[in-house]
Amino acid sequence: MRLAGKAALVTGGGTGIGRAISLAFAREGADVAVNYSRSEAQAQETAEEIRGMGRRATLVRADVSNSTQVDMMITEVADRFGRLDILVNNAGITVFVDLANLEAITEGDWDRIFNVNVKGLFLCTRAASRIMQDGGVVINISSVAAFGRGSSIPYCASKAAVNTLTRSLAIALAPRIRVVGIAPGFIDTRWTAQWGPQQKERSAAATPLKRVGQPEDIARLAVYLAADGDFVTGRTFVVDGGRTL
Ligand code: NAD
Repeated sequence: MRLAGKAALVTGGGTGIGRAISLAFAREGADVAVNYSRSEAQAQETAEEIRGMGRRATLVRADVSNSTQVDMMITEVADRFGRLDILVNNAGITVFVDLANLEAITEGDWDRIFNVNVKGLFLCTRAASRIMQDGGVVINISSVAAFGRGSSIPYCASKAAVNTLTRSLAIALAPRIRVVGIAPGFIDTRWTAQWGPQQKERSAAATPLKRVGQPEDIARLAVYLAADGDFVTGRTFVVDGGRTL
């Protein structure tokens, strides 16, 4: 097991990509703190599955965009596990607004998306870095939307900011902590469920590897970066089946 004896915290860890990463870490021997803000039932289910593998799991409720709640979350993780080796900044939100429809984007959309996707990522990383073991790893979940095309303009901009944060934080926290990013393409989670089978088929057809991505595709790279990528920092890796080539 490649993560035996390690402790991880996954924000938004009860659903979608976060859930797949939480389970993959546990399968490799890590204890996992599953953060959630509203998805309590799913987080509870994920924690049960982790315990079923013989690992420790704890649920931590916190809105990642609230620094008081984030600090309390990190204290809870330290109390429960006595250590923190891996932070996955996975929590994220968007709105679905056609890029050409500038008028439909509100100031509230900008504020909510940047608060969670950008400020929240910084708050979690800062608080975690205070207690992380030497050799710790932060994994930021970005998106190919960072290249400019995605669910909405504020979301695209927020993920570009995530990529810059990955670089800045890698410089700031080296050599004690590595900071890396994963930029998924279209991944089949509840975000994309609303698109329906035809849109998924179209996306698979336009993807060189001829299928839609699954949360486990992201989880496998997260395990690699956490367990083996020990001379890698500051970089964001695209996982999209070649779709944005
Ligand atoms: P998801 O909605 O299942 O995951 C997002 C998680 O973040 C949820 O558990 C949600 O409850 C949590 N969350 C939202 N706001 C929060 C807050 N303020 N505090 C704490 N938790 C909060 O969808 P997903 O597809 O699994 O997305 C996970 C990550 O992957 C996101 O960062 C998303 O931007 C990114 N991503 C997804 C895709 C895709 O196609 N699904 C593609 C690229 C990137």
